[in-house]
Amino acid sequence: KLINVAIDGTSSSGKSTMAKALAKYAGYTYIDTGAMYRAVTLYCLQHGYIKDGKVDVQRLVAALGDIKISFKLDGGVQHTCLNGVDVEKEIRGLEVSNNVSPVAAVPQVRHELVRQQQELGRGKGVVMDGRDIGTTVLPDAEIKIYVTSSPEVRARRRYREMLTKGETGVTLDEVVANVRMRDHIDSTRAESPLRKAEGACELDSTPMSADEQNQWMIDYFKH
Ligand code: C5P
Repeated sequence: KLINVAIDGTSSSGKSTMAKALAKYAGYTYIDTGAMYRAVTLYCLQHGYIKDGKVDVQRLVAALGDIKISFKLDGGVQHTCLNGVDVEKEIRGLEVSNNVSPVAAVPQVRHELVRQQQELGRGKGVVMDGRDIGTTVLPDAEIKIYVTSSPEVRARRRYREMLTKGETGVTLDEVVANVRMRDHIDSTRAESPLRKAEGACELDSTPMSADEQNQWMIDYFKH
């Protein structure tokens, strides 16, 4: 039986790592919805729709039809493409991270991406991670997880990840500030704010290693 798994939580709580581990274990498709909001944000930055953190909502909404997001596999690793161009590296940088939450708060952006996410998940076993998967995108998902973790632990995790990927010139303090800012915008926006979905199982990953967290997810899925 194919099952839908919805994993929601704050930024850098280890959601995507455990989602990928479960997808691999179960042979399901992994869908990274945050990457889609990040790709839309990169498009806005490339086209000058964001000035000093303010989004030109009118121009963004008018351009929505021109923003095509897809995923491709590169050596077993999923890469996000924006209008056919691999943008995996760019969308993980601090400039996109600093601007993604206001873009994701635009209702028309959410409606369009939610529609695409539901389409991507139709008729197959999927593990989807994001902020509104259990509440809005896949409200009927058989398994719903809500992951939390302390902001400091999350920032350190993201910081280490950025250094590994060669993203230098960023300080830990900047990453902490970014994590806190996104938590705030994501949980207070009007349109599908970050919430624990009804019936979701809550996991506090603060004391867990990545391996422990992945194993927890697979065990939960099995039982
Ligand atoms: O998961 P990730 O940190 O890559 O997501 C980046 C941003 O995209 C989040 O901070 C949030 O603003 C937005 N997002 C969202 N809804 C989702 C996934 C991501 O609003 N389902």
